[in-house]
Amino acid sequence: MVRKIMIAGNWKMNGCLEDGVKLAKEVASAVKSRNKCPCEFVVCPPFTLLYSVKKALRGAKVALGAQDAHFNVKGAHTGDISPVMLKNIGCSYVILGHSERRADHFETSKLVNKKAVAAHENGLKTIICIGETEKQRDEGKTIEVCSAQIRESVPDNATAADTVIAYEPVWAIGTGKTPTASDVEEVHAAVRKVLSQKLGNRVASAMRILYGGSVKPNNAKEFLSLPDVDGALIGGASLKSEDFMSIADSVC
Ligand code: PEP
Repeated sequence: MVRKIMIAGNWKMNGCLEDGVKLAKEVASAVKSRNKCPCEFVVCPPFTLLYSVKKALRGAKVALGAQDAHFNVKGAHTGDISPVMLKNIGCSYVILGHSERRADHFETSKLVNKKAVAAHENGLKTIICIGETEKQRDEGKTIEVCSAQIRESVPDNATAADTVIAYEPVWAIGTGKTPTASDVEEVHAAVRKVLSQKLGNRVASAMRILYGGSVKPNNAKEFLSLPDVDGALIGGASLKSEDFMSIADSVC
């Protein structure tokens, strides 16, 4: 089963109009110049930049993603954005269940599942994040925690076409710390096993599982060459087009 490598940038809460458009234009032109690169590129700017970034990416094979979506399509939900709105302005992906949302907004796996169902029903593909905290890791609970998050967060009818998983150890996000390559491979293989129990072998073997957490140009190759790692979700390093593209170049 050939899974297309995904290089996805999560810009988080960074960038005003000028910086966002500049970064998007740089990524667009760098991707255009690598027209033989087999990767799928995605950038996920903050909501305020989605429309301008979409325009700045015109003509480049870079998909647009949002960083969250509500489970309702419209209505009285102050401060929220619906999957219909995201689809309408050109998003094809939405990140759900990022650990920062699980922590800052008390999002549970059950809620993530509900959001994912709504996103899929409204034509968005999801990047569903899972990952253990440092304490859970120290207690030897990584596989248990990640397996439970997969079972609860991923919809029962998820397919490889509408869902991508991102394994992001919470303690590795933005810290410069990373798990060893063999730890990552062990978790990814375990996640694929749980996906297989939940969704069947065919779907699980086609579903992409990204690694995220302090991926940088100098460590990307190590992670991206692992058999069960199908790409990277990149935070800090996606804010500099050279770093983002240099990560992609380790597989392009
Ligand atoms: C992320 O937040 O998705 C992430 C992986 O961040 P960083 O690359 O900065 O660790």
